[in-house]
Amino acid sequence: MLSEEYFKNPQDVPEILRKIEHCADQTGPIRLMEVCGTHTMAIARSGIKSLLPPSVELLSGPGCPVCVTPANVIDMILELSRDPRILIACYGDLLRVPGSSAPRSLITEKASGANVAAVYSPVDAIRLAEAHPELEVVFLGVGFETTAPGTAACILEAAALDLKNFSVLCLLKQTEPALRALIEAPDFLVNGFLCPGHVAAITGSDRFSFLPEDYELPGVVSGFEPADLLVAILKLASMIAEKRPSLVNEYTRLVRPEGNPAALALMDRVFCPADCEWRGLGRINGSGYEIRPEYAPWDAVPKFGLHVPTPREIPGCRCAQVIRGVLSPEQCPLFGTVCTPGSPTGPCMVSGEGACAAAFAYGS
Ligand code: SF4
Repeated sequence: MLSEEYFKNPQDVPEILRKIEHCADQTGPIRLMEVCGTHTMAIARSGIKSLLPPSVELLSGPGCPVCVTPANVIDMILELSRDPRILIACYGDLLRVPGSSAPRSLITEKASGANVAAVYSPVDAIRLAEAHPELEVVFLGVGFETTAPGTAACILEAAALDLKNFSVLCLLKQTEPALRALIEAPDFLVNGFLCPGHVAAITGSDRFSFLPEDYELPGVVSGFEPADLLVAILKLASMIAEKRPSLVNEYTRLVRPEGNPAALALMDRVFCPADCEWRGLGRINGSGYEIRPEYAPWDAVPKFGLHVPTPREIPGCRCAQVIRGVLSPEQCPLFGTVCTPGSPTGPCMVSGEGACAAAFAYGS
């Protein structure tokens, strides 16, 4: 259903929709993918999908950081949380994400006596470490380029404070290698991308020019207002209809072509690229971040000798396919019956940015 309150200029909407439909009439069905969990929720909340002509389909891709963290990594975290000397600090979304033995999650470990705390930022985790010198505080650094600078800044602060009972389990991921892996997969069927505005604010819009240059796919860096999204969809549909793919920055009030040099320098100082495993996409070369050796005392991996166990999936859960956009949430047999926000089977139903949670809350 259309939620008019979310549209800044609702009088413009019919004309934009008419133009989108006109483009789709010229090309045939258009499939667009958003790769940002905040876009997923903004699209669902505003009712944009219900406004679009049936020939224009919006799919959710690997844009929810909690959802793309694989079950075997969650298993490793759950194992770590069982050590009574350790306090796990993480964003609230991660608390209810099950490992491969659902429904075990950090919240159930906490109920069994584990030291687990939800924090709003890594700075809160540093404060926890200062307040609890008897515990080893491990911050779970989940996210994309958007949260990487803040995590890097915290590692630098911990180093400056010589805070010995604080470390970061770096689970940060990079958007571009994941998009390349998605595009190069045999089941890829998308005609264009809504590029993530928050990520681009850090990396710069130029970072997404590989879409037209290497794959002849259009991309539009979009903001998060429904009007932003509709205009971005129109731009994508126009480029597809004209067969002239390019990269357009529609979020110029926040995103610069070169990004945020201070944030990028901070990330480069603390992290280096590393291979990384994604739920749904498997292991992708150079798609993660590793803490540089000079900050090893604040890296939970060497500090606790962590090893990621063999990949495993949650039985029956189709999050891996939902993340790749090859299955809609409603096509999962567990959707809305066994798996609900109150009793989630997979991460896509847990996270406030997950495609299944969005579909359950607002429909598609
Ligand atoms: Fe996973 Fe639940 Fe979504 Fe199915 S409905 S894909 S089990 S989160």
